Amino acid sequence: MFCLRHMMFYKYGACPKCATTLVKKETYASRTDLICRWARLTGHPELLNQDAFGICGMASVVYLLLKLDQRRFDDLFFATFADVIESFKRARFLTAGKQLIKIDFVYLSRQYWNASTDGFMPRIVQGQGPRVKDTSRDDESQGLAVMVPKKMEVHHEFFVDFYVSRALGYLFKKTAEDRYGSEKVQFNTVFDKPGLGYAGGDYRIFTRYGSFGLRTNNLAYILKDVVGATGVSIASKKPPSVVSVGAERVGGVLYEEFSDVDELGRLFVVGLSVPRSFAIAGVYGDIVKDRVTSPRLADAKLPYNHWIVINDFKIVEVSPFVCTCGKRHVKLGIWTWGKIHPVTVCEGVLLSYIQDVIFGHF
Ligand SMILES: [Zn+2]
Ligand SMILES: [Zn+2]
Repeated sequence: MFCLRHMMFYKYGACPKCATTLVKKETYASRTDLICRWARLTGHPELLNQDAFGICGMASVVYLLLKLDQRRFDDLFFATFADVIESFKRARFLTAGKQLIKIDFVYLSRQYWNASTDGFMPRIVQGQGPRVKDTSRDDESQGLAVMVPKKMEVHHEFFVDFYVSRALGYLFKKTAEDRYGSEKVQFNTVFDKPGLGYAGGDYRIFTRYGSFGLRTNNLAYILKDVVGATGVSIASKKPPSVVSVGAERVGGVLYEEFSDVDELGRLFVVGLSVPRSFAIAGVYGDIVKDRVTSPRLADAKLPYNHWIVINDFKIVEVSPFVCTCGKRHVKLGIWTWGKIHPVTVCEGVLLSYIQDVIFGHF
């Protein structure tokens, strides 16, 4: 396609420069609205909302910055909107690897505009259709699932939340081009299944609308080498996922394993003992919805990890009136999707949900 106004070719959606002009004209991109959301989020980090976008890994990092390192969040916020607000125009983001980066608003606004005008996301339906498997796992716990297209419902009140989170993907691209390229292919492959009949098998449809999945080592890279978390370690359930091309281990990260709830509990005690520390977990199934009432194994509908933040992890005994499984339970304080969710999970099923946990502190 060709834009006569900007005399340039573009591949899909709206012309990137036109999209940028359109986004900038919207009230949600005005200085007043941006600052208003900034004030709301810095006062209530848990309100950060990834909305319809598949950006849970990056959103989890932004939530942690809001909660634990607000100065770093501010740096990211101002740099993200440097092209939009005159008084921010000199803002750049200095990565932990000491690269000073200008964030390209055109890159982000094209994704946002296309998503809010004609975007689609996969909706995962259980129990019918071909098997969709996460290729990075070799067990058979994935279950049957089929993806159907669903129109994206983009809520402009979460405009800042998307831009600041997705800006981390841009910084990732700028500092680790190989990892970024591989991640795009990996994420796309998950959705690019013949027979799903969606988007003519064109995987690009997902990343074009701003969604971007991250494998564990690449999320650890963003935490450590982009936003500067320290003492980063990765604990994986035995046997750990195979390390794949483009998601290689990160230098300076400690690797650990766990095979039962006690081992995981000890890792949490150590991991969350330092001030301003965090735990981000890659989970299968909907750990937020599955409650104590029935000890259910993870119903892994998601063909890829969902990243959540675990603020609390406590092994407790519960009354048989609460659960008759007879085992211990784990109380978790989980952050995801704009909320804190207090969840209690039976010991016997907890590990079916959790694959990897990244610990560290700011
Ligand atoms: Zn144009
Ligand atoms: Zn139970």
